Amino acid sequence: MQTDRRKFLATSTALLSAVSLTEASKAQTAKKYRLIATEEACAFPDQFEAYHKLVAQPSNDDDVLMWKGFFNNKVLIRRLLDMGDERLGIMDKAGVDVHVLSMTAPGVQFFDADTATGLATSANDQMAEIIQKHPDRYAGLASFAPQDPKRAAKEIDRAMNKLKYNGLIVNSHTNGEYLDDPKYWPIFEAAVANKAAIYIHPRNLPPSAQSLTRAKVNLWGPSWAFHTETGTHAMHLIVSGVFDQFPDLKIVLGHMGESLPFWVYRIDHYLARSLKRKPSEYIKDNFLITTSGVNFHPTLKYCHEVLGPENIMFAIDYPYMESEESARFMQTAPLPPEDMEKMTHGNAERIFHIASA
Ligand code: MN
Repeated sequence: MQTDRRKFLATSTALLSAVSLTEASKAQTAKKYRLIATEEACAFPDQFEAYHKLVAQPSNDDDVLMWKGFFNNKVLIRRLLDMGDERLGIMDKAGVDVHVLSMTAPGVQFFDADTATGLATSANDQMAEIIQKHPDRYAGLASFAPQDPKRAAKEIDRAMNKLKYNGLIVNSHTNGEYLDDPKYWPIFEAAVANKAAIYIHPRNLPPSAQSLTRAKVNLWGPSWAFHTETGTHAMHLIVSGVFDQFPDLKIVLGHMGESLPFWVYRIDHYLARSLKRKPSEYIKDNFLITTSGVNFHPTLKYCHEVLGPENIMFAIDYPYMESEESARFMQTAPLPPEDMEKMTHGNAERIFHIASA
């Protein structure tokens, strides 16, 4: 009798788990949450014309060499330039509602101040026109040229007020300098005045430091260099007092926070006494991170626990990463539904002033 009962229990448990497995795999493909993807790259013909001129000249700069390689990838180049049927089709197939568009890295920071300012203005005009055609599918981060901080501040005003942008993007260092240098602070003034979050996107190390990532296998780009370089930029902002001067400034970091969340204990341990507030407090109050390029639940669960659900946004890193895999990763994250609402779209609506559906 007891054996029979045990057998019955064993069978029904197996059956139950088989049923729940089927349900789980169904749930994996079902769209549960509105998805706003916040680091989605695009490019413009005049930008690429300027890049082509750069890569045609001999250079040992990792960003130039990287683009030399990218220009051989016809699909990548086509997808960067396309903000029409192909992109919208890929979004539909993956169940992605909105792309927050931004000019692909290193944006205008390759160039001298005049060229960079001109390209940023042109890109902002072109992208605004595209967003106007698809207001439900696209939002946008405006470019600016840190090489000329005063004109950058003016362009930020124009982009946010006249062109109705949702935020700003910058590609980490400019000629080997970070934005903690007070000469760049007109950019932060303009960002705060316009409630514009600044997405700091990675680029390769400045040429003077590139030997450090040239290992037996090159550690450039997204394999390693991007995250350590951009993480260092974020640390500069934290220790320089930028957030004491601009307490409302919001900085967005991709790739699960460019390594800051992982080191937060150690950062606090060594730096808390040198600063007005603990580094982790600035990280929680002044930064948001995105999931771009890290479709890995353990990292997301860790960041959710350490930073909280208010500080995480979904991103794909289109067209460099695969949309369907990224969407599936986000939709199936094993986290509470009320937190998922925030991470999949709620935080993006709040930070980037995007209308809720
Ligand atoms: Mn990216």
